[in-house]
Amino acid sequence: SKLMEGIMAKRGNSIIKGIEISDIITILNRAYADEWLAYYQYFIEAKVVKGIMKDAAIVELTQHAADELRHATMVADRIIQLGGTPLTHPKSWFDNTNCGYDEPKDFDVVSILNDAIKGEQCAISTYSKIVEMTKDKDIVTYDIVSSILAAEVEHEADLQALHDDIFDFIADLKKSMSL
Ligand code: FE
Ligand code: FE
Ligand code: MG
Repeated sequence: SKLMEGIMAKRGNSIIKGIEISDIITILNRAYADEWLAYYQYFIEAKVVKGIMKDAAIVELTQHAADELRHATMVADRIIQLGGTPLTHPKSWFDNTNCGYDEPKDFDVVSILNDAIKGEQCAISTYSKIVEMTKDKDIVTYDIVSSILAAEVEHEADLQALHDDIFDFIADLKKSMSL
């Protein structure tokens, strides 16, 4: 019932100390905007990417898109748990985002990977700050953002590894052609 939900939310929120719940909701909504924009950036990058080893890139970009959508779900669920409302209009994503949106203009795989790496680096900075803010204050949000942070670190590493593989492949190709 509505009443029970109210009572339960109150108990859950009473364990939050030294930080305003409204501030946590605001911060989480900014991260929520980032996740949707990251999701769409990966989604469209996977569709338009061209060039060497693009199949490997498509697999990685598609996987990351799914991860970002999962992060959006985790963040939205926590906002609701805290008594807030996740951003209800896509227009508001641009007003709230920390990391913005990098429209792919050059569809070359290396350029796309560079954009994506930049995005992950911003996500890592953003979530590190939220982890710091919520540490010892809101353990539940802290847990959620810590696990998302770990995923963003993995994303950056995966993209960097793919980027390096492409450069190695090109170097090997040049070597074999000069023989
Ligand atoms: Fe994410
Ligand atoms: Fe990511
Ligand atoms: Mg990956």
